[in-house]
Amino acid sequence: MRQASILPVVPKIIMTNSENLAVPQNSKCAFCAFLSGDRPYTTLARNDSVAILVTREQRGIAHLLVIPTHHYETILDLPDADACNVMLALKAAAYAIDKAYGRQGISVWQNNGLPANQAIGHFHFHIAGTLDEGGTNEGKVRELSVSETDEIADRIRPWLPALPQSL
Ligand SMILES: [Zn+2]
Repeated sequence: MRQASILPVVPKIIMTNSENLAVPQNSKCAFCAFLSGDRPYTTLARNDSVAILVTREQRGIAHLLVIPTHHYETILDLPDADACNVMLALKAAAYAIDKAYGRQGISVWQNNGLPANQAIGHFHFHIAGTLDEGGTNEGKVRELSVSETDEIADRIRPWLPALPQSL
């Protein structure tokens, strides 16, 4: 006799701040300072919920940061609407890197908590075209000047699709 199937119990996903993650405690958030204009940095594009920055630590060809414009520390703090907006911006960044630099690979990574190598306590994605030898540079890299990252932005910007309206 066939047993009645038992429906799996799907746990309800509760978005909440983590009590476990060891989040870097920067006295002043560098990303918020870039977004407010308090510190110079290259902004490739921005709408009211997400921004694409050109990092001064280029670990790929080219290497961008996609961040929510609101300060959320980790992925566990990110509201669903902002999660969608960030992913749409990430897709736009991937398209533009592909068109502007024609790399054979594009890497995307995102770190939460100090043991995961999160350096700035403001949620962010990294996205980078791969190096000639493959992968991205995980070691020490030279810090570019803002005028150098502005040049990278100039090369990418013509290819960047307009960021969709925030959800
Ligand atoms: Zn911040």
